[in-house]
Amino acid sequence: MTDAVGCPPPWDRIELIEGDITQFGGDAIVNAANSSLLGGGGVDGAIHRAAGPRLVAECRTLGGCPCGEARITAAYDLPSKYVIHTVGPVYRDGHSGEPESLDACHTRSLELAVENDIRTLAIPAISCGVYGYPLAEAARIALGTTADFLRRCNEIDRVVFVLFDVRTHATFEAVRDELVQTG
Ligand code: ADP
Repeated sequence: MTDAVGCPPPWDRIELIEGDITQFGGDAIVNAANSSLLGGGGVDGAIHRAAGPRLVAECRTLGGCPCGEARITAAYDLPSKYVIHTVGPVYRDGHSGEPESLDACHTRSLELAVENDIRTLAIPAISCGVYGYPLAEAARIALGTTADFLRRCNEIDRVVFVLFDVRTHATFEAVRDELVQTG
């Protein structure tokens, strides 16, 4: 299994860790939100709880966010500076626009990061919880899209995928190793 440090560019800027994204101390964390942006379960609930009530107050001013797009807010009581809220697709059959939407979530989040001078950000396994995306398929899109973006962009120093459990972390690592091998 490869480690980010030993990986060729751009993989040397992509880290995979098992943990709780609310503890990330870099510039921004990405939230797997729902289209209301008013909070929910899973990682969204954890982020809102840790950020405090000012986060939902700012989110209320945004008027929601469609699937595949992203919005940015302050991070309030979280250790990071910003939260980038993106809305992943609900998985149906893999042929109903889900791959394109999941790709767009990552691309739009990374674009918003660059626009806001964010150099380090954490991303969870978007759509891999309640939204039911098969893990390996989601990991291929999340990692492939992020690597493609970083190949074209030197303004981001580090993207950390913060995976909540052993299985998700192991799947992302296996997919990352495959993608590193195939270039
Ligand atoms: P979605 O609705 O996009 O599927 P979920 O929040 O249900 O979003 O799940 C997305 C992923 O986030 C899942 O892998 C879930 O285990 C994970 N997750 C839940 N809480 C946290 C957390 N505090 N930090 C990082 N990941 C988390």
